[in-house]
Amino acid sequence: MTNRIYNFSAGPCTLPVEALEKARDEFVDYDNTGMSLIEMSHRGKQYDEVHHQALANLRSLLRIPDEFEIMLLQGGATLQFAMVAMNLKAEGKTAEYVHTGAWAKKAIADAKKIAPTRVIWNDEANNFARMPKPDELNIGDDAAYLHITSNETIGGIEFQEYPKTGDVPLVADMSSHIMSRRINFDKFDLIYAGAQKNLGPAGVAVVIARKPLLEKCADGLPAYLSYKTHAPKESLYNTPPVFAIYMLKLTLDWVKSVGGLADMEKRAIRRSNLVYGMIGESDGWYRCPVERESRSRMNVCFRLPSEELEKKFIAEALERGMSGLKGHRSVGGCRASMYNAMPIKGAETLAEFMKEFKRQNG
Ligand SMILES: *Cc1c(COP(=O)(O)O)cnc(C)c1O
Repeated sequence: MTNRIYNFSAGPCTLPVEALEKARDEFVDYDNTGMSLIEMSHRGKQYDEVHHQALANLRSLLRIPDEFEIMLLQGGATLQFAMVAMNLKAEGKTAEYVHTGAWAKKAIADAKKIAPTRVIWNDEANNFARMPKPDELNIGDDAAYLHITSNETIGGIEFQEYPKTGDVPLVADMSSHIMSRRINFDKFDLIYAGAQKNLGPAGVAVVIARKPLLEKCADGLPAYLSYKTHAPKESLYNTPPVFAIYMLKLTLDWVKSVGGLADMEKRAIRRSNLVYGMIGESDGWYRCPVERESRSRMNVCFRLPSEELEKKFIAEALERGMSGLKGHRSVGGCRASMYNAMPIKGAETLAEFMKEFKRQNG
């Protein structure tokens, strides 16, 4: 396929071309049925296979233990901000949050509307330049759960070592780095992620939750908002987002075909090293605003010596087939988001361009 550019957008993001082409080929007439998958009953044989293969792919690739349920829900990661608080709130307990940036802030804001909420770490004064170390977090005896944002997409910081929460359930928004590193499921009780950064297109969110936690979830919630509705029905309580789940399945088929999670992790390390390496080599001409040990492998944020140069950099990169390099409007600068489907060649091309741009403008 020609005319594909390197898409460094923070989300939705680049997807494997193999998955896009397969979807194109099957789109109008799925499996010789004379109709598209998106026109069929979600209770029929064809969709049922896709649905269960999507779940099976997630389970096998992430090595999700049997004591966890996997749910495929609508409303994005954003609805999970509210659903987590609604389902996990408990009489006499307080929901605890780690405030690490823009996405944590949104999760906290929604939780506050639903349940007593406490922020136990807030790095705003330091411009969210790093993640907390485990021993910096004081988790209360009355904590209903501790919520973290394991990769802050806008600020470009990522946990390297997760909090130790003991008996307190640990909940993580992994939207922007899921499937890019191994997850130690012993540590976590609930993980959620919007699909559109690392797993597929927008329209479906993945929730992975420990079964005993689900049993304890609040009763009396509206049907869609309750985990207890979805888990026993294998996410087929109502009409699921058929097309998004199908694309997720195809994306994960591709992950499997190229070597699975271990390969995704290697690629993430390789890509981010290329770009951070170029920042490091530039003698401070490119600057990364986050502390070294918290640097995200997925979202590499960097500044140039001036905003004019940043504008020029972004425009010239686009001319060379690299899009989406503008930092989030709330923080400015540049950001290269390199999710699972970003080819190594994309990171190489960016690093070479950074070198050349500095030579011409430095
Ligand atoms: C993108 C993102 C979200 C929001 O996801 P939606 O699916 O658009 O609701 C939440 N958290 C993080 C960390 C994200 O990167």
